[in-house]
Amino acid sequence: MATTALLLRAHHHPCKPSPRPSPLQPRPAVVCRAMASTAAASAQALRSMAPPHRPELLSLDLPRYDPARSRPVDLAIVGGGPAGLAVAQRVAEAGLSVVSIDPSPGLVWPNNYGVWVDEFEAMGLADCLDTVWPSASVFIDDATSKSLHRPYARVARRKLKSTMMDRCLAHGVAFHQAKVVKAVHNEASSLLICDDGVAIPATVVLDATGFSRCLVQYDKPYNPGYQVAYGILAEVDGHPFDIDKMLFMDWRDSHLPEGSAIKERNSRVPTFLYAMPFSPTKIFLEETSLVARPGLAMDDIQERMAARLKHLGIRIRSVEEDERCVIPMGGPLPVLPQRVVGIGGTAGMVHPSTGYMVARTLATAPIVADAIVRYLDSGNTTITGDALAAEVWKELWPTDRRRQREFFCFGMDVLLKLDLPGTRRFFNAFFDLEPHYWHGFLSSRLFLPELLMFGLSLFAHASNTSKLEIMAKGTVPLAKMVGNLIQDKDR
Ligand SMILES: Cc1cc2nc3c(=O)[nH]c(=O)nc-3n(C[C@H](O)[C@H](O)[C@H](O)COP(=O)(O)OP(=O)(O)OC[C@H]3O[C@@H](n4cnc5c(N)ncnc54)[C@H](O)[C@@H]3O)c2cc1C
Repeated sequence: MATTALLLRAHHHPCKPSPRPSPLQPRPAVVCRAMASTAAASAQALRSMAPPHRPELLSLDLPRYDPARSRPVDLAIVGGGPAGLAVAQRVAEAGLSVVSIDPSPGLVWPNNYGVWVDEFEAMGLADCLDTVWPSASVFIDDATSKSLHRPYARVARRKLKSTMMDRCLAHGVAFHQAKVVKAVHNEASSLLICDDGVAIPATVVLDATGFSRCLVQYDKPYNPGYQVAYGILAEVDGHPFDIDKMLFMDWRDSHLPEGSAIKERNSRVPTFLYAMPFSPTKIFLEETSLVARPGLAMDDIQERMAARLKHLGIRIRSVEEDERCVIPMGGPLPVLPQRVVGIGGTAGMVHPSTGYMVARTLATAPIVADAIVRYLDSGNTTITGDALAAEVWKELWPTDRRRQREFFCFGMDVLLKLDLPGTRRFFNAFFDLEPHYWHGFLSSRLFLPELLMFGLSLFAHASNTSKLEIMAKGTVPLAKMVGNLIQDKDR
């Protein structure tokens, strides 16, 4: 209790309510009314098939955090998503005390995660994939398609969560079911105030609250691009896709009537179909805006999807679940370093050009966990509080990773400027690259010298129109990237 009183006198900052800046673009005023109302009605019909959201729970007997505990826990992790649990299990395994704080610790994560199989195999998580497609396909337009010889998979989200929870339980992680509203910091420890009134003292605090960015601070204007998508897991009469291939991107637009407002919108800010065909009659379909600023309106995306499904002759019998995806991409990194450590969405780890994150976060969790263990376990009492957090941030965002992210943000800035023809030209060249380059780019495995080779190779593969376009639209983002890299060097 003495610790508590001491901590409360120290400085604190309140946990912001989930900042979800509206990413939605206003709907255009000028539309052909008849066509627009048909498209809107089809989108409404699609939405109405989705069942109410039914949260799926794991039946686990969770060891609860004991608020009467007198000593601070070694590590308090705010947020029990993939990022938070991955660190929890590893730090607890090293023998340190860990509490995981989340409003619904037993909830199966709702997202339909898709990953490249090699990414999960490298982490020994291949048994947490429920369906594997040996290859993937990309439709650039009606005349051009590509086969990607890289296996892709859907994550078995229940299995992944229960595997990670089992490891946490085996190593003594305690759980507290609540939301953290505020952190109060003292020199060597912190106090987390939860919305149920419980205060949890901890030596290190890790913010793993995803895109709600609960405790991690930002000091630059938050101006991300947004990936927005609408997905359904559906029973259908049939679909035209090969069930041995996942559909990574379908940029065809022949489903949109010539001269219509929706076609014009799609030409300016394109969306593509991403699909996981599980059987001839079961499929996950997701209409996706790769990145836009501001993000596309969800109802616009649903209208495009309804038109596409109709054109493809996909008749939906029933919808098992739907997902609305809004992923902030790029934007500034959090203040580096700062007292609260971060990982995952809250720490700027989403891939700024693709929106992917889960594999990279799971691969980075041991690095963050091991840094925390190293400093807490060493008996080194000179490195505590801010200094300890600074060491952990250094491991999360070392120079090469910051430079890599800067390059990916440059990629995002270019993508933001491309219309449908430009986007098609870009991906036509991208997927013609050596697999080493496009695999490495998508999986964050390339670092700066190689990323420059990647950029040159992409330029060499681009058509003449595309080269001119890259030069015209990439110059400002390139200058911004170089400026940021120079600034970062001075840090
Ligand atoms: C619909 C959707 C689909 C996606 N699909 C993919 C994909 O296919 N592949 C991919 O790589 N990435 C995907 N992503 C991106 C990213 O991988 C996921 O968002 C991933 O879940 C992020 O993991 P996380 O642990 O950082 O955050 P989250 O999974 O968001 O977990 C954060 C946790 O923190 C909790 N929390 C929030 N605030 C508080 C608080 N104040 N106190 C306590 N707890 C709190 C939340 O309840 C939640 O449990 C997707 C994202 C979305 C939204």
